Amino acid sequence: MTEFGFINSIKTLCADLHKNGFEGIGDDCAVFEFSERESLLFTTDLLCEGVHFLRHATSARELGGKALAVNLSDIAAMGARPVATLLSLSLPAEATEEWAAEFMEGYHALSKRYGVALIGGDTTRSQRDIVISVTAIGRAANDHIKRRSEAETRDVIFTTAPLGGSDAGLRDILDGRIDTPLADLHRNPCPEIEKGQWLGARHEVHAMMDISDGIASDLRHIMTASHKGAVIDLDRVPVTEGATLKQALCGGEEYRLLFTASFEAAEQLARDFERRFRTPLYPIGRITEGAQLKWREHGTEVELDWKGFTHY
Ligand code: ADP
Ligand code: MG
Repeated sequence: MTEFGFINSIKTLCADLHKNGFEGIGDDCAVFEFSERESLLFTTDLLCEGVHFLRHATSARELGGKALAVNLSDIAAMGARPVATLLSLSLPAEATEEWAAEFMEGYHALSKRYGVALIGGDTTRSQRDIVISVTAIGRAANDHIKRRSEAETRDVIFTTAPLGGSDAGLRDILDGRIDTPLADLHRNPCPEIEKGQWLGARHEVHAMMDISDGIASDLRHIMTASHKGAVIDLDRVPVTEGATLKQALCGGEEYRLLFTASFEAAEQLARDFERRFRTPLYPIGRITEGAQLKWREHGTEVELDWKGFTHY
């Protein structure tokens, strides 16, 4: 079983179910167009102890922030504004009241920062591990929603930040160095809420998603959904200090944005973005005809079999 093979089999099995006006499975969020002007968006992500975090290597407060951040990132990735969440917690008896209160402090602080309501959830006891499931709801103008399927040939591929730091931080944590700046970055992802909405409002932006499994995997989702190929210029990929190029391409849990924009408008878009956010956009490649992902170094094609993260 592969993670995406399993998701595809679910999708196939359930293709005969009535959609009731919803669009999904397949993008960062499911979309429900509730009026001619606006849609609601829905996404859910699970954090599982031992797989997504180690209890001794993260504070409860950080975990509360991260559980929410990874969900808000999927809302931002479609150009939407997060409005509400549902929070489900499965906690073993030894997760103390103090731990739970700290977790909620982190969750509450980030909710407050982005004006997101908590509207429900579920609480259960678990045998051993902590499991956290968050569902986030977003809202967007219909013509601001950015899907994975909208990439066009010749589009410039952009990312919004240097990459690889989260994976490098995870290596630090697994090696027992839990206090490094990169470990801190891994535990405290910074979802690009304002940037996602700003890019959503720009019509020259075509396809967008967030980077949760690494560009090497995530870009393939845009390519498959858009029936396109892509070429990435390795020398243009921004790498976080302390990380490697491989980590920048294959490392997961970045929660930065990956998007494509019309070639003609790309330079102006990058200028406007930099003026607005005081941080650059990084053009890392182009969308092509075909279905292949190619890698280039100083203009010359190179062979790489690097893949992103999958759970199986
Ligand atoms: P993301 O990394 O953006 O959260 P995933 O790679 O986890 O997205 O999932 C890809 C798509 O498959 C999404 O549209 C997601 O909603 C859907 N999906 C994942 N797991 C399941 C599942 N168990 N049942 C139904 N849909 C799923
Ligand atoms: Mg996503």
